[in-house]
Amino acid sequence: MAIREIIEAPDPRLKTVSVPVETFDAELKALVDDMFETMYAANGIGLAAIQIGIPQRVLVIDLQPDDPDAEPEPCDHDGHHHTHQPTKREPRVFINPEILDPSVETKAYQEGCLSVPDIYADVDRPSTCRVRWQDLEGNAHEEAMDDMMAVCIQHEMDHLNGILFIDHLSRLKRNMALKKLDKMRKAA
Ligand code: ZN
Repeated sequence: MAIREIIEAPDPRLKTVSVPVETFDAELKALVDDMFETMYAANGIGLAAIQIGIPQRVLVIDLQPDDPDAEPEPCDHDGHHHTHQPTKREPRVFINPEILDPSVETKAYQEGCLSVPDIYADVDRPSTCRVRWQDLEGNAHEEAMDDMMAVCIQHEMDHLNGILFIDHLSRLKRNMALKKLDKMRKAA
């Protein structure tokens, strides 16, 4: 396993339309392992393969990214000394995912992206959808998604089609975001 470098906007590779996975082998498992390690190290909740420069239709998501093996953190913010138990990780892998039946009803969530660091903006998306995908063995699955999972899978699906969340914003807001990113990068 290895932590890979995450590609950041405006790198043109992020506009790539990724290709379907056809071979479900050890190489694919190794890629997914690296994607999880990279995502957890960056404190993200989702990562598409193209974000580490691999143009394949592979996503990893974990809405509970805390490490269960981490030492419980003592905290006394409310005056009582107690320990903060990390939640259990819930890693999920989606190979060749497809969005089906996106709801007409939409909901705005504040989104961020490991490829657009420190930029957050509200994006409107269908509030529920069904997702069909394959697992690491190539078996097909289908599931209804809502809440954060619906937001996250639609955000990650966009990456497979070369779209970033800032592409959903007005041109003015997108340019402001890219300018801020450039400024922060120069300051760093
Ligand atoms: Zn993203």
